[in-house]
Amino acid sequence: MQEREVLIIGGGAAGFFTAINLAEANPDLKITILERGKEVLTKVRISGGGRCNVTHAEFIPKELSKNYPRGEKELLGPFHQFMTGDTIAWFDERGIELKTEEDGRMFPITDSSETIIDCFLAETERLNIEIKTGHSVQDIQQNNDRWLVKTSKRDFTADQLVMATGSNPKIWKLLEKLGHQIVQPVPSLFTFNIQDHRIKDLAGISTFAHIKILDEKLESDGPLLITHWGLSGPGILKLSAWGARILEARNYHFKIQVNWLDYTTAEEILEKIKRLKHKFAKQQLTTHAQFNLPKRLWLSLLKAAKFPEDQKWAELSNKQIHKLAQELTQCQLTVNGKSTFKEEFVTAGGVDLKEINFKTFESKLHPKLYLAGEILNIDAITGGFNFQNAWTGGFLAAQAIAKSVVNEN
Ligand SMILES: Cc1cc2nc3c(=O)[nH]c(=O)nc-3n(C[C@H](O)[C@H](O)[C@H](O)COP(=O)(O)OP(=O)(O)OC[C@H]3O[C@@H](n4cnc5c(N)ncnc54)[C@H](O)[C@@H]3O)c2cc1C
Repeated sequence: MQEREVLIIGGGAAGFFTAINLAEANPDLKITILERGKEVLTKVRISGGGRCNVTHAEFIPKELSKNYPRGEKELLGPFHQFMTGDTIAWFDERGIELKTEEDGRMFPITDSSETIIDCFLAETERLNIEIKTGHSVQDIQQNNDRWLVKTSKRDFTADQLVMATGSNPKIWKLLEKLGHQIVQPVPSLFTFNIQDHRIKDLAGISTFAHIKILDEKLESDGPLLITHWGLSGPGILKLSAWGARILEARNYHFKIQVNWLDYTTAEEILEKIKRLKHKFAKQQLTTHAQFNLPKRLWLSLLKAAKFPEDQKWAELSNKQIHKLAQELTQCQLTVNGKSTFKEEFVTAGGVDLKEINFKTFESKLHPKLYLAGEILNIDAITGGFNFQNAWTGGFLAAQAIAKSVVNEN
């Protein structure tokens, strides 16, 4: 029997996961990973601030899929086949224990992405998967049922081809040549640049807030982190992901409204302020922060409401009460530009999902062509979901290829 060859283009998360699972499912295949860089798994190395946020502790497929602004509908079926619990078990079987942080993010207990890289490299060696670095793929053609792949160094042929090149414009162009539609790429997961006296000098403060983008149907809640250049934190990153296209169309210039008290309304807070006015009548407003706000933020909002420093609760006028309620629940800030979130960033856009069979991750246009990971128009909010997409796609593509080869023989 002639040896079957599978080429995997891209030595990243999706490429390695596909290769390893494929070799396990069918040890007779000749599997080669082609990577353009000198090193493989470079994004895994820097991921999660060097700790690699492998997945997220969400175990219900429907709930997990809700974290994907692009891919929510399409990933639901695949998650019923391979999701968080399977990822945990997969690494556990290879001696890697994952731990869950308070916000649900899961990391190796070593807190080091090297643990994941070492595991993948050991597995590829054990399973005789060949890794060829320094091979930048330049062209792909399908001839007589076989794939011809031209790299910067030489030509390769294969029976099956897996594209796992992440967000790579050159590869998207090649796929366009093969007839695939590419949804225009735009950044996702970024922080907001804001120059405003209310948050100036408050860098490092974190609080839970509700944030709305004015004039758009975009809102989220979550921890919000004040930085030297504006706002960051999961609440902002969620907005950047769901609003990736809209915010790009606005050239990252827009207004947001922050409710520092989450969903409490201005009316509700008016009543609370009135009660505090009686309770703390003789005290100055600056003495204690209220509503569980960090003290520095509370003081800054009082200043923004133009309260004298020695203002006493008893002396609050109705106008001042309204002004304070407004600053607390409807604080409007102007965003001028975005910054890269260093712990994780992804691209929205990629191969149109209509052209993929999500049972197998095979192209509907070209049999024996599989695509997994960020090359597809799939991306998630921050928290380990982007890698979960790579693991799920890689695993299902591997199973499908292994099965199709058996059927052919
Ligand atoms: C700084 C940072 C931190 C992140 N942290 C996290 C995190 O903690 N958790 C999480 O879930 N997600 C994280 N992400 C997102 C996550 O890294 C990606 O979603 C994931 O790596 C996508 O995997 P992939 O295999 O599809 O693509 P990649 O990991 O990008 O791999 C693609 C590979 O293909 C190669 N390639 C490209 N073009 C060619 C070519 N022409 N020929 C040959 N090879 C080619 C590339 O060099 C690369 O090695 C982070 C992203 C960044 C940038």
